[in-house]
Amino acid sequence: MARPSRHGPNQGGDIMITWCLEEEAAKDWHECSMKAESAVSTTPLHSPPTAVTTNVPKTTTTVSFNTEDLNEKIDKNVEKRIWNKKGEAEPTVLECPPLGLESLRVKDAQLQASSFKRRGLGPHRGRLNIQSGIEDGDIYDGAWCARYEDKKQWLQVDAMRLIRFTGVILQGRSSIWSWDWVHTYKVQTSNDSISWKPCMNGTKEAIFEGNRDSETPVLAVFPEPAVARYIRINPQTWYKNGTICLRAEVLGCTLPDPNKIYPWQMEQVIQDKLDFRHHNYKEMRKLMKSVNEACPNITRIYSIGKSYAGLKLYVMEISDNPGKHELGEPEFRYVAGMHGNEVLGRELLLNLMEYMCQEYKKGNQRVVQLVKDTRIHLLPSMNPDGYEMAYKKGSELSGWALGRYSWEGIDMNHNFADLNTVMWDAIELETDKSKLINHYFPIPEQYTSKDAFVAPETRAVISWMQNIPFVLSANLHGGELVVTYPFDMTRDWAPREHTPTPDDSFFRWLATVYASTNHVMSNPDRRPCHYVDFLRHNNIINGASWHTVPGSMNDFSYLHTNCFEVTVELSCDKFPHASELPAEWVNNKDSLLTYMEQVHRGIKGVVTDKETEAGIPDAIIKVDSIDHHIRSASDGDYWRLLNPGEYEITVTAEGYMPVTRKCQVYYEPHPTICDFRLTKTPKQRLREILAKGGKIPKDLQLRLRQLRTRKLRVTTKAINQRRASQQKIRASQR
Ligand SMILES: [Zn+2]
Repeated sequence: MARPSRHGPNQGGDIMITWCLEEEAAKDWHECSMKAESAVSTTPLHSPPTAVTTNVPKTTTTVSFNTEDLNEKIDKNVEKRIWNKKGEAEPTVLECPPLGLESLRVKDAQLQASSFKRRGLGPHRGRLNIQSGIEDGDIYDGAWCARYEDKKQWLQVDAMRLIRFTGVILQGRSSIWSWDWVHTYKVQTSNDSISWKPCMNGTKEAIFEGNRDSETPVLAVFPEPAVARYIRINPQTWYKNGTICLRAEVLGCTLPDPNKIYPWQMEQVIQDKLDFRHHNYKEMRKLMKSVNEACPNITRIYSIGKSYAGLKLYVMEISDNPGKHELGEPEFRYVAGMHGNEVLGRELLLNLMEYMCQEYKKGNQRVVQLVKDTRIHLLPSMNPDGYEMAYKKGSELSGWALGRYSWEGIDMNHNFADLNTVMWDAIELETDKSKLINHYFPIPEQYTSKDAFVAPETRAVISWMQNIPFVLSANLHGGELVVTYPFDMTRDWAPREHTPTPDDSFFRWLATVYASTNHVMSNPDRRPCHYVDFLRHNNIINGASWHTVPGSMNDFSYLHTNCFEVTVELSCDKFPHASELPAEWVNNKDSLLTYMEQVHRGIKGVVTDKETEAGIPDAIIKVDSIDHHIRSASDGDYWRLLNPGEYEITVTAEGYMPVTRKCQVYYEPHPTICDFRLTKTPKQRLREILAKGGKIPKDLQLRLRQLRTRKLRVTTKAINQRRASQQKIRASQR
């Protein structure tokens, strides 16, 4: 099927080889690759330009990440840029926490109203930050809306126990089509829902300021706190062309319950002693430093680069040999905070590093095993600039989108090179199917230019992905409760369409592992967060069948590297109140650990030269039934994630005879060891004799991938230098 207008900016489709482009003006990857390949096989050191052959590194990894010294002071210019305005750096301190309309701690049955327009706009929808679907009129609409337009309408919350109410946060209706919000309102409280007391301001009934738009949450603090069980929000005036609609959160402190009248509301006892609060950049550094000091033998902190505003992207490495890749030991990563306002993942990763350090020291076998067998990398904040924006407003007042984007306004989950289009175009255009590649897609040429709109954070993560042979990852988001797996992008630009990868069954397993061990997702009685009921899908979904995301990190990871990655949407509330954090740790602790353990599924081994016993890097590991290969790392070790079953595995490497063998994967989460010893081809022996030990030429795909990677790094460096000098000039002009 013809696909019109596919080649927008950043959409690739230019998979051609630089030296072909320059020397032969060939426009087609395959035509070009055939020419180049024939050139390679006869005169490998002649055809491509010198840049390709002279300083091609031995392996794909050249940049290493040095250990960070967190005693280092934060750059003064960065300090000024981010925390310059006094009083703005810390969020409004709320005297009492939210009751939990947004977090769903308050159940639907606790919400009632004087009237409502229809079911989809019922009182159970009057929750702060609830999102509507595309259409108005859905059963999942974006507010509580009263049926009548008079001053007698109310939304009521039954707290189910005595509360000292201190305030209300109000927001208008979430809708693409309608504008509805409340300008002013009154508040009443009651102990029995029969007799009501107005909230007073001195001798007069208090009138609170509501909203001026549908999105911005507005806080009203009561002049006098009121102790009661029920509270009503009673709109007085509203947007003139709209009706009475609102989303709300109620603030209140629970009163002591010495007689245990409300046993179901007893606080959960949290076993783990972790630092449960929101950590801004400086506090995050402190916490990481303290974990590193408590467990110097199994942790190391490094940075993969800087944000646009100059904050470092810190990674906590946890391993029995920090700083080193050990032969055969798989590498795992968690990435959080790619959307800066989705903050739960950041806190969970900080909890996780603290927890692993503590438990390792206690000798917790599960943790000890993980640390010994795995090299774990935790990036708690991929978008620190966005986080600081949201943090300054605080968990209740930052709304739905503030801080999502980078400083430059880039959504990083659309910012990775779109390799899906490259792949699907090739499948459509190529008549010789044997020429198609199915893994390690090179970055498109245009993506490597200085003018490409690629965030420094994205560039840093790409570089990181290429430097470390990651096997498995999860990308932690918020605002929903579901685990999504690739592909994230639909093939024909459809808004949504099931688009599985060749590894669909393993991805479904991965998603299921997280979703089924998460306490909230796996609760069959939970209500949907917003407008999709993911319970019906067992809390997992193919990313593209939810909504298409071109340029996602998951798709890029799968198509450009060996690493499998899923997205975890951790909570309905993007920025849960700090009081929710201990419970969220309990909800996610087992999922976080179990998911990491999946890196030990499938087969692994080492590909070596039969004669020299040296490891062979970049050997291709093919599974007979799956159209997606992976490659060995620089020492010849490889990991192939697979579900239980018997597989025929073929390993090929440039200059060697292919080897095929059967490998059985079992149900236990231990990999089957499948080593491969390869014999050089006679042609290769001859070539080596002629070249007197000349290096084995890399295949074209690999060289192109390395070339583009290097180009991307060169432009990144140039951009960073340009920005650094501009910032210096600006600083000196102040
Ligand atoms: Zn997100």
